[in-house]
This record gives sequence, C-alpha cells and structure tokens, in this order.
Amino acid sequence: MNRTLRSFTLAAALGVGLAFTTVAAENAADQPQHAHKHLGGPNGGRLLETQPRAEFFVEKDRRVIIRFYNEDLKPVAASEQTVTVIAEAKSGKVKIEFAKDGDALRSQTTLPEGDGYNLVVQVRPKAGVKPQNFRFKLDLATCQECQRLEYACTCEH
Ligand SMILES: [Zn+2]
Repeated sequence: MNRTLRSFTLAAALGVGLAFTTVAAENAADQPQHAHKHLGGPNGGRLLETQPRAEFFVEKDRRVIIRFYNEDLKPVAASEQTVTVIAEAKSGKVKIEFAKDGDALRSQTTLPEGDGYNLVVQVRPKAGVKPQNFRFKLDLATCQECQRLEYACTCEH
C-alpha cells in the first residue's frame, strides 16, 4: 500500500495543507484503512492502489479481469504487469494465474464457488520486482448504500 499517496489524498480531502502531511502520515499508521470515501473502479470493480491503478472485477462467469487506469482514471493498456490471485476458499487455497487479453489481464480459471472467503491479489509491476499484495474479502452481495458489489463498495467503513 502506498501510505504517502493515501495521506496526500486524505489531507487534500480534509482541506489540510501539505505542511500537515507528515503528521497525517504518522497518524495514518494507527488508523483503520479507508478512513475516507475511496474511489471505485470505473467498471464497478475494486480499485487497487497500484501505479498505474488496477481495477479488480469479477465477471459473470467468475473469471477475474484486471484493467489499468492512469491517475485521471483513463484506461491504459496492461504492459509488463503480472497478476496472481490466491483465493483462500473454504475448500482450500487456490492459485489463479492471469494472461493478457487485449488491454487487460484475465484469469485463466474461475474463482472457487461461493463467496465470503479472502483473496490476495498480487500485482507485480514487471518481472523481478516485488509484488504489491492486496487482501480483501470476496463479498458478492450488493451494498445498499452505493449499489456496488460489497467487494468494490466505496462507502466509508
Ligand atoms: Zn457501499
């Protein structure tokens, strides 16, 4: 996770000057994640704080598609990124590999049945670089507040 970037966003949202960024960054370490309303993916998926940003989206057939966006949320083509998803399903851990599909990356296999289990999405910017890991629960219910699926919910909580 990019704490500095989040702190900047938080500081900006609160109308706090850049002078307080250091303080915000220190406090952020003790705060629960997503103290502010976070950005949703343009296609209804979960936006991951990668560079460029990656949107995690579960398709109808339970395959996962990852699309990339620049800072203005304009689509950009996948380049050297590789993605792996670890699904910690009740039936056991499953590793899901991705392959390029047009400008996006698509999972080669589908997510295990059901939901309510944890996922770890590993985004590697390019070969030989440490991956960024994003852990969250796969919850396919619809949030009544923002009408997005819970795994991509943008509400404050
Ligand atoms: Zn919501």
